[in-house]
Amino acid sequence: MASLSTAANAEEIKRQNRSFVLHALRNSGSVSNADLAGQTGLSVMSISTIIKEFLAHDVVESSGSGTSQGGRKPILYQLQPDNYVVSVAIHVDNIQTAKINMQGEILQSEKKRICGQLKQNELAALVCDLIDQLMEDSREKDKLRGIGVSAPGPVDTETGTIIKPPNIQAIEQWEITALIKEHYQLPVFLERDANAAALGEHWFGSSEKKESMLYVLADQGIGGGIIFKGKVYRGFLNGAGEIGHHTIEMGGPKCSCGSYGCLEALASGIAITMKAEALLDQNKWLPSGEQKTDLLTIFQAAEAEEPLAKQLLEETANYLGVGIANAANILNPEEIIIGGSIVHGYPAAMETITYIVNDRILYNGKEPLSIKRSQFKEEAQLVGAAAAIWDHLFSDPQLFMT
Ligand SMILES: [Zn+2]
Repeated sequence: MASLSTAANAEEIKRQNRSFVLHALRNSGSVSNADLAGQTGLSVMSISTIIKEFLAHDVVESSGSGTSQGGRKPILYQLQPDNYVVSVAIHVDNIQTAKINMQGEILQSEKKRICGQLKQNELAALVCDLIDQLMEDSREKDKLRGIGVSAPGPVDTETGTIIKPPNIQAIEQWEITALIKEHYQLPVFLERDANAAALGEHWFGSSEKKESMLYVLADQGIGGGIIFKGKVYRGFLNGAGEIGHHTIEMGGPKCSCGSYGCLEALASGIAITMKAEALLDQNKWLPSGEQKTDLLTIFQAAEAEEPLAKQLLEETANYLGVGIANAANILNPEEIIIGGSIVHGYPAAMETITYIVNDRILYNGKEPLSIKRSQFKEEAQLVGAAAAIWDHLFSDPQLFMT
């Protein structure tokens, strides 16, 4: 038994060392073995062995020679820049796919709207069709290193299963990771949408390299993702970060989760349109005579200074501010990033949210807490799914070599 555990331990150390080297290469660009040894604390000999493995599997390439420190000029190495992943973002009403490189650049993308009547096997066929379309045009199929998937929760990341998203009737216990692995024989990783978007910010957005961050997805629903020590914080059963379902008003409106007065029931896109519909029923809706109550119409009306639309969206921003302040008091993150259609469709929400959060949090920093709007709009989960699979590959570099 002792020898087994020693072998397992050696494998774990190997995994960690390879992962350190990959992250150091990503942070540094072009570096020598000696530089990598300095950054990771590993010996030059260990680095040399790891780099040889990565070269053999096209993970790393030589990028010229550095400055001599008295002897021969050192060879420099960098991550192979042509490697890419495919990302799949499953939304309530559409599926997006894209090819995304290690810099987070979208090289090519596809999008298909889905209707509520689609069955799970039809969705599966659609996902594979969209991935096939991307791969058809790819001359460098060997540079495709994995597939990342983002989907509304709850999801089980261990088994790669989308469990039962409340707003997508067709999906129940969908083992999407197994399905995609079987078709494409590549590493696949599934992440909950707001966690994926948080990882996207951590890998490619303005929150890159921040150790802790709270991401809030304020869209049709309200989700949250927590980055802690550079990783997604999942909680006991994968449920951490569900900021949309903490109670803001006891006895408030019923939420899709079955509870009452949740942030999502008060400040989500669905809640905004329900409130607009109630105003329309009472003949109190927009004085311009606008009969539509969809989110886009409401954003446009607010932009045109329609008081009712502005009031509705300001009320939403107030609720979001209170909810985010509650979460910030519990988590004390280094930064808060807010994404989703509400803050992009109604940019003034950011000012209100920032004011309320800073007014309500117990915070001992000298500067106000950093609260930013995500730079990613509708591609947030797509970029996030790419970050999720890159993160998975960097955590377990052996996956590059099988
Ligand atoms: Zn709820």
